[in-house]
Amino acid sequence: FAQRVETFGTTIFTEINVLAQQYNALNLGQGKPDFDTPADIVAELVKAAQSGQLNQYAPGPGVASLRHAVANHAARFYGLDIDPDQGVIVTAGATEGLLSCVLGLVNPGDEVIVIEPFYDSYVPNILMAGATPVFVPLHPPTWTFDPAELRAAFSARTRVLILNSPHNPTGRVFTREELSLIADLCIEHDVIVINDEVYEHLTLGDARYIPIATLPGMFERTVTVSSSGKTFSATGWKIGWAYGHPAVLEGVARAHQFTIFAVHHPTQEAVAYALNQSDQYYDEFRSMYEGKMRLLMDALDGSGLKYRAPEGTYFIMADFSDVFKGMPRDFTHHLIKEIGVACIPPESMYSRDHVHIGRDYVRFSFCKSDEALLQAKKLLGKLR
Ligand code: PMP
Ligand code: GLN
Repeated sequence: FAQRVETFGTTIFTEINVLAQQYNALNLGQGKPDFDTPADIVAELVKAAQSGQLNQYAPGPGVASLRHAVANHAARFYGLDIDPDQGVIVTAGATEGLLSCVLGLVNPGDEVIVIEPFYDSYVPNILMAGATPVFVPLHPPTWTFDPAELRAAFSARTRVLILNSPHNPTGRVFTREELSLIADLCIEHDVIVINDEVYEHLTLGDARYIPIATLPGMFERTVTVSSSGKTFSATGWKIGWAYGHPAVLEGVARAHQFTIFAVHHPTQEAVAYALNQSDQYYDEFRSMYEGKMRLLMDALDGSGLKYRAPEGTYFIMADFSDVFKGMPRDFTHHLIKEIGVACIPPESMYSRDHVHIGRDYVRFSFCKSDEALLQAKKLLGKLR
């Protein structure tokens, strides 16, 4: 195989799914809901597929209804003024959106700042573009970055910073103060932000999600990537989008044309319908997850694992150091084989130099049925 993929192993999500299945463990690893997409949204997909019009190629940048829905959604929730024709590209999930952003905006030899722990596709994307990742860690237990470490990561070669808020896996939602520091440094060093907001509707408690594109001077230098997977419990649909100022989006559009050209056509119509849902949908979605978060916290409370309540996403990072001595991967294997619960060890979300920072933590997902989360309480209770 080619040198550019030489260092890529099997993703941690696949590895843990195989192990969980082998040991018949309750799988709180991969962020994959074990419940279905709302029936009215699925019905729109069926209707579109049976319309006799939509089973051939969609327009490359996406169908007009979905591009308008993305622009309307950004205006409705964030007050952003997006051009539905030149400022939105529909992608094959956020994953293709992120890759097209990196390929379309980053030159070989450029540096890309990545906040750690990171979603697992960012670094392979950067390496495939021939660029160099530069890492800024979030420090437990608060998962905040050190402003001096952030500042030191910028150089004359920095081209892009990849941001993710609400943040997988820590559950942080970055505050206006944190975002302002990132924004000031990006403006000072003429850096573009790729903002991954796939958990935008998954804020918990008092946390409020602020898109960095809404900060002064940032709209022109931000491409925002999101997805229907989390918000509509449809991770198998792989419909995402990138939006921003047409000048920044141009590079993304060029890469998108020749990575995938166009995305699954009928599903785009269903996602356009879904994005236009009433506030009630989004409110109920959030309260459903607040209930599930409480069930997982209750399960962890009886287990000896320590955690802080997440501000967003459907993940909790739990500190296992009181109940197990070893690395996160060892603890995960122990949990799967001896306790019957699967989680995600964060080693593959860190650079080699920083992996020690997450050495006491594993990630649990709560995008699971209430029954599964109640079962987790019984099983995790055996850890003590
Ligand atoms: N970014 C983050 C932070 C994620 O958690 C995920 C979902 N695993 C993605 C991107 C990928 O999203 P999609 O499934 O839409 O490609
Ligand atoms: N985003 C999901 C997670 O973090 C999984 C995505 C994947 O399997 N690649 O669990």
